[in-house]
Amino acid sequence: MGDKKCKYHHICGLDVAYTLMDEYQAEDSCILHSENPRKLQNNEYYKEFTKTLEEHRKEKGDDFRHMVFPGDANFSFARFTKAVYFNGVRFT
Ligand SMILES: [Zn+2]
Repeated sequence: MGDKKCKYHHICGLDVAYTLMDEYQAEDSCILHSENPRKLQNNEYYKEFTKTLEEHRKEKGDDFRHMVFPGDANFSFARFTKAVYFNGVRFT
């Protein structure tokens, strides 16, 4: 599988999400940064996303730049646009 890094590795420190690559073909980003629209509808993906996000917050803090959030009620935000920090949150 190799160790291809997320295109926003400097933010998340993660590798490309291989589970997504398998199912959805090539991804160039991790589960947090993937813009694949199908992740919004996939429950298994959502659980993994939530877990990964929690780990990210513990290790890196609330730096959510470039991340794409599933549009779920558990998040009070749906999708972040580019270069938006948590503190400068913009709801879409
Ligand atoms: Zn990433």
